[in-house]
Amino acid sequence: MRYFPLFADLRDRRVLVVGGGEVAERKARLLCDAGARVLVVARALTPWLDGQAADSAGVITHLAADYADEQLDGVVLAVAATADRELNARVAAAARARNLLANVVDDAELSGFIVPAIVDRSPVMIAVSSGGTAPVLARLIRERLETTVDESIGPLAELLARWRARIRAAFPDLAARRRFYTKIVRGRVAELLRARRGVAAERELERSMTPETGSTTGSVVLVGAGPGDPGLLTLNALRALQDADVILHDRLVADEVLVLARRDAARISVGKAAGAHSVPQTRIHELMIEHARAGRRVVRLKGGDPFIFGRGGEELEALRAAGIAYEVVPGITAAVACAAYAGIPLTHRRHAQSLRLVTAHCGDSVDRLDWQSLARERQTLAFYMGAGRLAAISKGLIGQGRDASTPIAIVENGSRADQRVTIASLGDLTDIGAHGEIRSPALLIVGEVAALAGELAWFGELTRRWLRLDRQAA
Ligand code: SAH
Repeated sequence: MRYFPLFADLRDRRVLVVGGGEVAERKARLLCDAGARVLVVARALTPWLDGQAADSAGVITHLAADYADEQLDGVVLAVAATADRELNARVAAAARARNLLANVVDDAELSGFIVPAIVDRSPVMIAVSSGGTAPVLARLIRERLETTVDESIGPLAELLARWRARIRAAFPDLAARRRFYTKIVRGRVAELLRARRGVAAERELERSMTPETGSTTGSVVLVGAGPGDPGLLTLNALRALQDADVILHDRLVADEVLVLARRDAARISVGKAAGAHSVPQTRIHELMIEHARAGRRVVRLKGGDPFIFGRGGEELEALRAAGIAYEVVPGITAAVACAAYAGIPLTHRRHAQSLRLVTAHCGDSVDRLDWQSLARERQTLAFYMGAGRLAAISKGLIGQGRDASTPIAIVENGSRADQRVTIASLGDLTDIGAHGEIRSPALLIVGEVAALAGELAWFGELTRRWLRLDRQAA
């Protein structure tokens, strides 16, 4: 090990910073956050440093002078952050002679200590260092951690600190105490903090301490998996997947998304393929409830967004009736994703002032849709589950006066490697339905904006086709 890792308590301790530029400011900001009293030696200061130094209540003192070794008197650390290498080296040498640790910015060789990249979830702090070899690597790791360690870790640590004595008294046995802590940080208390419900979290913690009232039930997170591209998952979705014991997923959920889940989570497909046999909705409810009652963290993973043509509402009602705790993580819905990946702005100042998300799957017929209002101009329609009903959609809209030349786009497998976009007009839909070999999942976009898919496309290779099937002029 080349460097000894440590966290230093710098509250009210003096630290010398030599230099007054951007780099010095960055270090001074961190030192101030840690409560240090910072002496900045420099002829000129950045505006922030200047403002802090002028503030009499501030913790930064400015010495508008050249560096001199005596400035090291009474400090616990020093930072050399000037652009002058030779001066930095002098600060380092003088510090060493006094047995002080000095950091020379961007020069590990001269430094007595180096400063790590950090993820700050105070009081929890994660520090990453490449030992001065490749700071870019440390930053890369830091960014990854930043996305996986959520903000509620800080409040969780604070809550546990407040309850520490009581928890120790309630669980004198070390092993039992460890088990209790594990349950808290992985369970309902942590979930409540993530949902920004601090008061309820504290109540739950208190309840958990008495075995009789402590809940052993798990919970369900309803997670939107987006349209397929795993890059479209939210950070909360990713975290839920990595915390899951059981994942109940639809068939629409892409494998690329499932591989991101915790390795030993059980994956259960309750998939629905159009027309194919699937697990009945009531059975899905039972499965969620059974697994949660057994104390597991269940992720109910759905394509797109759970509340858009996803029966998410019904599932929450079932959970609520069963008294199971739940959370919802929204996902990017097919209309939004397909439009973006096909280069179709869903609204447009010139062409469309509103957007309607429509399901073409209403029981056995599309006849129940309000074709009159759907046929109005200056709106964009996004039809879900319409691949098998293109003719009926075309007939319904044209029948109520929407022009047969209105542009349409069909996006198959939106955001996935095999995405295919077909651009045509409303009047072509019947032929496309009969001969176009449209594969599910596919989304139909109707409206002037659909024509822009030709000009603005950016995703996928050789996947756009323009269909102008021969049509009898009316
Ligand atoms: N909850 C989902 C929709 C479920 S309904 C969401 O918010 O996206 C299923 C329909 O969604 C499919 O029939 C299809 O119309 C559409 N769909 C879902 N994923 C799609 C994709 N990757 N490409 C195109 N259409 C998609």
